[in-house]
Amino acid sequence: MDYQHKSASKISTGDKFGKLSVLVRADKPKTKTFRDKMAYFICQCDCGAEVEKSSRYLLDNRNTKVMKSCGCEASSYTAQKNKDNSKHLLTTDRRYMVWSQMKQRCTNPKHNFWDRYGGRGIKVCERWLEPAPYGFYNFIEDMGERPDDKYKSGRSKYTIDRTDTDGDYTPENCRWATYKQQWETRHIYIKQKNAKLNN
Ligand SMILES: [Zn+2]
Repeated sequence: MDYQHKSASKISTGDKFGKLSVLVRADKPKTKTFRDKMAYFICQCDCGAEVEKSSRYLLDNRNTKVMKSCGCEASSYTAQKNKDNSKHLLTTDRRYMVWSQMKQRCTNPKHNFWDRYGGRGIKVCERWLEPAPYGFYNFIEDMGERPDDKYKSGRSKYTIDRTDTDGDYTPENCRWATYKQQWETRHIYIKQKNAKLNN
């Protein structure tokens, strides 16, 4: 059940993901966060940059709009979108609010929900914590498109969900999920956690 071993074994030197070619597995990943159990790989991007990417990022096929890269594809994608809609790009992308609120809850003691988030030690991973627009681009790169399913009111049915509700906002612990899905997995997760504790 260990994500690190299960997914890392599918990746080897020379594998190509979008513009990224895998060079070697990183011994001491720089971007690794405290809780994440992912394996990281040093990759060479077609543009020449060398970057460290997680197994999760490399194997994730949800975001088909932006090719995997050192980040240069995401920025050229954004630049293209930017051209179409220069001023309002960030604020019209509804995911921007999700990202910005997530940061607020965890970093701003004046936020209404501070007690349930930052106040009890829930953190946002470093990649997503970078200032706008970079943290937002990283967030999009890791989380991909939000499924396009809305309520009649126009509000999205999908919000950002943490599998481990005591865990941080990291790519490994987050996904887009409906409230119904969140309830279901939380239920199973708590059962598993309790079962572990009782053993
Ligand atoms: Zn690149």
